[in-house]
Amino acid sequence: MQLLDGKFLSAQIKAEIKAEVTQIREAGGKIPHLVAILVGTAGRSETYVASKMKSCEEVGMHSTLIRFEPDVTETELLDAVRRVNDNPDMDGLIVQLPLPDHIDPNRVMETIDPAKDVDGFHPVNIGRMAKGLPAYVSATPQGILEMLQRYDIKTAGKHCVVVGRSQIVGLPMSILMQRNAYPGNCTVTLTHSRTQDLPAICRTADILIAALGKPEFITADMVKEGAVVIDVGLERVVDTSKKSGFALKGDVKFDEVAPKTSFITPVPGGVGLMTICSLMQNTLKAARGEVYGK
Ligand code: NAP
Repeated sequence: MQLLDGKFLSAQIKAEIKAEVTQIREAGGKIPHLVAILVGTAGRSETYVASKMKSCEEVGMHSTLIRFEPDVTETELLDAVRRVNDNPDMDGLIVQLPLPDHIDPNRVMETIDPAKDVDGFHPVNIGRMAKGLPAYVSATPQGILEMLQRYDIKTAGKHCVVVGRSQIVGLPMSILMQRNAYPGNCTVTLTHSRTQDLPAICRTADILIAALGKPEFITADMVKEGAVVIDVGLERVVDTSKKSGFALKGDVKFDEVAPKTSFITPVPGGVGLMTICSLMQNTLKAARGEVYGK
């Protein structure tokens, strides 16, 4: 069993991005600039946005955080998105989800200029990704591809089972793993809460990607000997032995599953760190106009 070490890889990728940003600065070019919009201050969203802003700082990019109170109207929020769209100094925009119930997240995503949609949530980017055209790919699936690639994991002809069909992880992951590319060329099964006999399907997976948000749901009896297991889940569970009072758990019961695998991601220290790197990589691409031109 080998760990897919997100900590090691993310340090490597951040160093690469930092070197590129330094080159841009030294050449007198425009520094890539990521903007995040955060509504409210609910715990996890605040933490996620803070770490994205901090990562920008680490690699030398500019970042701006635009905050709104939870009672912001949809019109006010959409106006803020349009202002970022129109600002040539701002290269990438993310709107941290979830949003309050009175705001339609689809309308917000569709208002972001696809050329600044570094989270890859705009339907234009999802459609382009599905067609194999240049697009911003949503950060978590892209981070997983990067991980498979950097560990040189063979994917062609393998059976990849994705558990969870969310718009931001499971669905794009399944599309990417079936493409005629590397990583890709898998035979993909996309599963969800209505799937019958999920354990039997998981046992046929050469590559198992768990993204369902149910701590330690995937147990050893659901995993084939030698499988590659990618754990996307990231949930807080009560743990009185920790100072914070909680521990972060993935969707995979790591201790019993790990010995059966060829490669596995830990939680924390796996996919989550790769996600932030993908966002930085997309912001760099946006600044260079690599996807849509300038
Ligand atoms: P989500 O939108 O809640 O979707 C969960 C998916 O799992 C749904 O498709 C659901 O099926 C399926 N599911 C739920 N229970 C199931 C069961 N018992 N058997 C089979 N499928 C089941 O979740 P998400 O946003 O994709 O996030 C999933 C997890 O990944 C969460 O823990 C989240 O915190 C984590 N996450 C981590 C990162 C990172 O950077 N590490 C990024 C994003 C998300 P239905 O469609 O039928 O309801």
